[in-house]
Amino acid sequence: MSSARTSFGPTPAVGLICRNCEKTYDLIAQHACWQCFGPLEVEYDSTALARVTREQIEAGPHNIWRYAGLLPVGNIASDRVSLNPGMTPLIEADNLARELGMRKLWVKDDSANPTHSFKDRVVSVALTAAGYLGFDRFACASTGNLANSVAAHGARAGRESIVFIPHDLERGKVITTAVYGGSLVAVRGSYDDVNRLCSMLCETDEFENTAFVNVNIRPFYAEGSKTLGYEVAEQLGWRLPEQVVIPAASGELLTKVHKAFDDCVDIGLTDSGKVRVFGAQSAGCSPISDAFNADTDVIDPVKPTGIAKSLNIGDPAAGPYAIESARSTGGAFDKVDDDEIREGIRLLAATTGIFAETAGGVSVAVLRKLLRDGKLDPDAETVVYNTGEGLKTLDAVGDLVGPTHTVDPSLKSAKQEGLLG
Ligand SMILES: *Cc1c(COP(=O)(O)O)cnc(C)c1O
Repeated sequence: MSSARTSFGPTPAVGLICRNCEKTYDLIAQHACWQCFGPLEVEYDSTALARVTREQIEAGPHNIWRYAGLLPVGNIASDRVSLNPGMTPLIEADNLARELGMRKLWVKDDSANPTHSFKDRVVSVALTAAGYLGFDRFACASTGNLANSVAAHGARAGRESIVFIPHDLERGKVITTAVYGGSLVAVRGSYDDVNRLCSMLCETDEFENTAFVNVNIRPFYAEGSKTLGYEVAEQLGWRLPEQVVIPAASGELLTKVHKAFDDCVDIGLTDSGKVRVFGAQSAGCSPISDAFNADTDVIDPVKPTGIAKSLNIGDPAAGPYAIESARSTGGAFDKVDDDEIREGIRLLAATTGIFAETAGGVSVAVLRKLLRDGKLDPDAETVVYNTGEGLKTLDAVGDLVGPTHTVDPSLKSAKQEGLLG
């Protein structure tokens, strides 16, 4: 046990623990419990976490590694495998708030990361762990953004990467992965098929040297999402928001942001506060939302459809925990259809200057729906998360927008087209 810990350098993490039966493990490359097959997560020494102060964090680098004292890896800068993501803008969205009849709303814009989605956070933590665990090839099963990030991290680190995607991914996500030059495998099947294939490959001798960020080293990957909670608290002046709306695919991001808010209070980084956690899914793939609204914890896997491909996980690994986060905080889950997603993208763009990918459209459209249904308090301080960049999913709104006027280069034509009144 101690040897595994030492190889990780200084870390507040003490091992892995099963989320179901609480069996403990060393810090190893494993994601499921040998005893009950439950998912493993990183366990921390709470006294080590409690020693982390606001001042230490504020003196750190302007990226996720300012929170290294709260993560399982990253305390030694030279050990990091990272594009140094994080500290993305938290934008006061006054126009959008006014449009929605809200008092105070922020957009956490994680499209500003190096490969333009929140996935850079989880990949940086996972691949730094992969380095300690002795892997020399990087891999993932991806709905798109993870592929971008793993391929880019591989390129930066000078390591081989092999990423697996569903064959029908958006062109924008394929190009922005392939350009980094690693292996890119399109699988004839859904994301859930891709994930199953990766789980099988993981067990082969040929892939023994390979870290699949969201398979064999998933517990470390999941921790990176917490920085999206710590960061919002810090950017609000070490305060917690009252409500958050977060898009959900596997449900990991939502679960870990919720955990990070709880950590902030436990560690003393913020005063106590209650954050209501709301989850957003698309109607084309809403297994978590449907289970939540049917008042059950049992997730029925679905076959995903619809334009929000980055959220198209039909069998979400952290689904039950995401439901628990929403339920225990007085939040909720909801879903929106493709037209509402497009409308969400356009509303966000027109009121904030942020062009989100489909997942961001899901968040904004669900925010609006929850307000209309009276489930979300318009007077409570709210943060809505945009997790990805609109330029990668141009086709989502490509048919809806274009030039509002077309003119000849003459005043006469400008007048004819109504530009001069
Ligand atoms: C992966 C992804 C999510 C959801 O992440 P989970 O942790 O699987 O729920 C949300 N938004 C975007 C843009 C993503 O790429």
